[in-house]
Amino acid sequence: MKMILETPLKILPGYLNIMGYVDESEVNGPDRRAVVWVQGCLRECPGCFNPASWSFTENQFIAVEDLAEKILQNPRNQGVTFSGGEPFWQAENLAKLAQLLKPKGLNIMSFTGFTLEELKSEKAPPHSQELLAELDLLIDGPYLEQLAINDPTSLVSSKNQRVHVFNPALQDKLNWASDQMEIHILKDGSRIITGFRGAMGLDNSS
Ligand code: SF4
Repeated sequence: MKMILETPLKILPGYLNIMGYVDESEVNGPDRRAVVWVQGCLRECPGCFNPASWSFTENQFIAVEDLAEKILQNPRNQGVTFSGGEPFWQAENLAKLAQLLKPKGLNIMSFTGFTLEELKSEKAPPHSQELLAELDLLIDGPYLEQLAINDPTSLVSSKNQRVHVFNPALQDKLNWASDQMEIHILKDGSRIITGFRGAMGLDNSS
């Protein structure tokens, strides 16, 4: 694993560089929720489910306010999950997104390749504390192929990863349909496949 000191990501203030977005997922956290996959991760974990998310080059820039509006337009979204890529390299603007969504009643969950201890340390990406303060749920730790669980009923992908429940109201909701996969067909005809083990696939062959 590479030493993680700083991100090459340079994007406009108030914007996120995302890889994808879906509404009403039931396999990426409690209840029905929006999922935002951010672009960029430095870890290069062997066996990563989403290697197309590694690059920090521009994929899709979207203003935080515009993304919040999209998520809130769908009243069936009860929360939002940040996945990736590494959400904490875009912590400042994800925290701002969370601050727009939480007053509207949505809960906030994030995956991260960092451990919670790293995120609380001096080595954490900038603004990590701001994003941590907004989270109701955190799944932490890198994917380690040698500790892979390969069990579709598991909420985590490898044994080192942990589920941190910061909001006790979600304690009895740690039972999302992690054994299922979803196919989302977008307006432009492309498809996003997500589900078991947090995998995300993009299929433009519609
Ligand atoms: S932290 Fe996640 S997105 Fe990044 S390389 Fe590892 S498994 Fe892939």
